[in-house]
Amino acid sequence: MFGRGPRRNTNDTKYYDVLGVQKSSSQEDIKKAYRKAAIKNHPDKGGDPEKFKEISHAYEVLSDPEKREIYDEYGEDALKEGMGGGGGGHDPFDIFSSFFGGGSPFGGGGSSRGRRQRRGEDVVHPLKVSLEDLYNGTSKKLSLSRNVLCLKCKGKGSKSGASPTCSGCQGSGMKVSIRQLGPSMIQQMQHACNECNGTGETISDRDRCPQCKGEKLVQAKKVLEVNVEKGMQNGQKITFRGEADEAPDTVTGDIVFVLQMKEHPKFKRKGDDLFVEHTLSLTEALCGFQFVLTHLDNRQLLVKSQPGEVVKPDSFKAINDEGMPMYQRPFMRGKLYVHFTVDFPVSLDPEQCKALETVLPSKSATKKVSDTEMDECEETTLHDVNMEEEMRRKQQQQAQEAYDEDDEDMHGGAQRVQCAQQ
Ligand SMILES: [Zn+2]
Ligand SMILES: [Zn+2]
Repeated sequence: MFGRGPRRNTNDTKYYDVLGVQKSSSQEDIKKAYRKAAIKNHPDKGGDPEKFKEISHAYEVLSDPEKREIYDEYGEDALKEGMGGGGGGHDPFDIFSSFFGGGSPFGGGGSSRGRRQRRGEDVVHPLKVSLEDLYNGTSKKLSLSRNVLCLKCKGKGSKSGASPTCSGCQGSGMKVSIRQLGPSMIQQMQHACNECNGTGETISDRDRCPQCKGEKLVQAKKVLEVNVEKGMQNGQKITFRGEADEAPDTVTGDIVFVLQMKEHPKFKRKGDDLFVEHTLSLTEALCGFQFVLTHLDNRQLLVKSQPGEVVKPDSFKAINDEGMPMYQRPFMRGKLYVHFTVDFPVSLDPEQCKALETVLPSKSATKKVSDTEMDECEETTLHDVNMEEEMRRKQQQQAQEAYDEDDEDMHGGAQRVQCAQQ
């Protein structure tokens, strides 16, 4: 039918797959699928430009009965021939804008007319929050000052609404100057046009918008209400789409708040769990304890041991469902871990020891030292040490030794020989 030789009834369904439709789908289904996919993947909405191009191209082919027939019968390559080798097709933004009748489906006031536009920069602000904020959720009102397009001139900068092309550079913003360097040598230099400061436009003083003085932009205050939801994490981003500085012919960037959690004096957070430190006296550790813990929402929790239970130093116990609420599932909570430290008495007098020996398990027989053994032993003395400091000193010593070795290596064998001679 198209004079392309034998039919190669291809299994190529890529274009159908891209739109998520069947080979037998109707034109109406293809339209619907394109509408959904194109809106979802539009770069203005943060979609992947490559994916958007693929979707547009697939729709361009499948929405045209003739192209679709060629594609169905001969595959993608045949279409590329038909399109003049380049395989290009149309600009995906043009396809998009003609599909939606020239307007923007995003309700963006028609500022995006389907043309490829520059995207403005995102503005990132840190937002300090307490652990209480992340536990209970909160909202913070923030006042920001931003550039917006001047309403009076609709961002044109002129009263007439025209955006006059600079006569100095014909709107390119660049000027080329030629310098004679020698009899047959010239140098061509390109520089920003001095008449329009490289913008390509000049507005006469009389036509200048009085509101923005031709700058097209004015400063405006805006109050944003940031909702910090229960269970959000340190470093989590809260995005306000299109709230950054406006600029002519630019898709406005986002304002992004990045949560920065302040350390809490009592509670530490690890994921959905909370950790709290608690010190027990030796008596409490052995004979039981109870204490009141004020939670992050000011609830008073009574924490107590089981009858007869002994708590070992440096041990953890957990309370279920008293950890952090989970993000977007705030009715689910992590655990609250209590880390116990036991405060031992500094010393006991012989009377106290005797009293304790009557109630505590007896000294084990194997640890008793006989008189004959005692005679063969050397007596020692135990000193108090600060283990952390000991380790630190050791590390410093090692580092110094490593440094000395490096030093020797660097200076080669000569120095070693010299040292040996001394
Ligand atoms: Zn110019
Ligand atoms: Zn203006």
